[in-house]
Amino acid sequence: MPAFAAVRVNAFHAYRIVFNKYNKSKNLMKLLIYTDLDDSLLDHETYSFRESKPALDIIRERKIPLIFVTSKTRTEVEQLQNEMGFSDPFIVENGAAVYFPLDYMGFSINNGSRQQGYTVIRLGAEYAGIRRFVESVKDRFKICGFGDMEPGYISKVAGLSEGQAIMAKQREFSEPFVIKDESLMSKLVDMAESEGFKITRGGRFFHLTGNSQDKGRAIKITTEIYSENMNEKFISIGIGDSPNDISMLKRVNIPVLIPHADGSYEDLHVNHLRRALLPGSKGWNQIMIEILSHTFQEHLYE
Ligand SMILES: [Mg+2]
Repeated sequence: MPAFAAVRVNAFHAYRIVFNKYNKSKNLMKLLIYTDLDDSLLDHETYSFRESKPALDIIRERKIPLIFVTSKTRTEVEQLQNEMGFSDPFIVENGAAVYFPLDYMGFSINNGSRQQGYTVIRLGAEYAGIRRFVESVKDRFKICGFGDMEPGYISKVAGLSEGQAIMAKQREFSEPFVIKDESLMSKLVDMAESEGFKITRGGRFFHLTGNSQDKGRAIKITTEIYSENMNEKFISIGIGDSPNDISMLKRVNIPVLIPHADGSYEDLHVNHLRRALLPGSKGWNQIMIEILSHTFQEHLYE
C-alpha cells in the first residue's frame, strides 16, 4: 500500500474509533444536516465529493438525515443521491421546493402534493413565468439564462459533462443566468421585484426565482415536518459558501461557512458562524467530522 494511502486509512480508522464511542452514548442528539452542494459538499472545478467520504460514511452509519439544499434541479439531485447512497428529502432550485420521498419513515405530510414518488411542498414560481420574464428583459440587460443556452455551452461555462448539463437544464422553478455588465444588476433586481421575482447569487451564476422562496424558508418547513412526525427536537447543521446560503445559515443551530476555492470567505453576517478551513469536499469533511465528534457536548448548542 502506498504511504499516502496508509495515512488516509489510519486517519479514517481513528475517526471510526471516536464515532463508535459516541454511538454508544445514550445521549446522542438528533441531528439534521442541511448542505449546499456546489463548492460546499462538491469541489468547485470537478464537482467531486471524494474527499468527503469519511464523513459521509459516518452520517450514513448514524442514520443522520443529509438534506441537500441546492440551486440544482431535482434530476441532478437524484443522480447525486444515488452516487452517494442517500435517499433523504431534498430542497431544489434555491429553496423552490422540498421533496420528501413518498412514505419516508412513515411521515405524514399535510401541506404537500404527490408527484412522481414524492410529496412536494412548493414555494417557488412556475418556470414558464420565470422564462417569460427572462425573455422580456434579456435584450435590454444582456442576460443569458440556462433556457437560452445549449447543453454544450452550459457544460463549458459550468464545467459539467454534457449529460449533467442536460439535467441542469431540466428546471422547474428557477433560472440560472449570466449578465454581461454587472453594473446593470441593480436595475434588473428592481425590475424582477416589481414582477414578483428576485435574484440571488450562487457560486457561478445569478439565479432568478420567485420572491417567496429561499433556502431558509424551505429548511424551516423541513425541520418542522421532522419534529412533528418524530416528536423530537432536532439540532440542525447548515453548510454553505455563497450569499444564496445566508437564509439557510441563519435558520440552523450550527451554521458553517466553507471558503471559496481560492481560500477566501464570503462576507456573511451570521451569528455563531463556524468556518471550515479548506474549500470544497475536503473542508466539508474536516468540519463535519469535527462537529459530529462533539455533538454529545450540550454546551455547543446553548
Ligand atoms: Mg455553493
